[in-house]
Amino acid sequence: MVAHELRSPLATMCNVLSLYDASLSPALLANLRGILDRQLRKALHLVDDLMDVARLERGDAIRNASEIDLARIVAEAVEETEHRLRAKEQTLQVEVPDGAVPVRGDPIRLQQVVVNLLDNGSKYSSVGGGIALHLRLEPGWAELSVRDWGLGILPQDLPFVFEPFFRAGRSLEQPGLGLGLALARRLVELHGGTITARSDGPEQGSEFAVRLPST
Ligand code: ADP
Repeated sequence: MVAHELRSPLATMCNVLSLYDASLSPALLANLRGILDRQLRKALHLVDDLMDVARLERGDAIRNASEIDLARIVAEAVEETEHRLRAKEQTLQVEVPDGAVPVRGDPIRLQQVVVNLLDNGSKYSSVGGGIALHLRLEPGWAELSVRDWGLGILPQDLPFVFEPFFRAGRSLEQPGLGLGLALARRLVELHGGTITARSDGPEQGSEFAVRLPST
């Protein structure tokens, strides 16, 4: 499966290179360059995910734990995903508390979790859809939820969405390896937290909730 997923961007890059000719018009060259850029990033993303899995297996993924403000992490994750949402004309509603949401953790890893949930919300929703992100501070806990109103998850698929390489049959049209949520769960658990998924069923959207101990 990994080989298959990697083969597709590599094959596209080979095809683009075989078309490449310096005498092509600047517009066409820019086009080809854009395709190369996107496919290269896709291949890189897949390899990064695989490296993360390997790192997590070794148990050394959380290296830079410190006191951080989860609200800031959320703001940075939103900034990172904004352009992808805009490309699908999707709206993102963000609700965060006024003050800081203190947790102890690795900022890069926690941002990766939030980005993954936002990206999934976008990927499994149609053009023009909406996503809502809520962050709350409860006594002893920070609670983050990402909800979309897209494809939804079948009840029989729900128990498996955090398993490595699991992909629901209905979502196979979208690119992916089925590693994002497995990584997210492992990262959240390494931070002493939990992650859960719920959906009212097909076309009813999905909601992912992360709870992290607050400091
Ligand atoms: P990927 O998106 O690469 O397949 P993930 O591990 O992020 O991998 O998700 C695993 C599976 O869970 C997806 O393939 C999809 O079937 C389902 N899933 C995850 N997020 C959503 C969502 N927001 N809406 C519907 N299905 C989802």
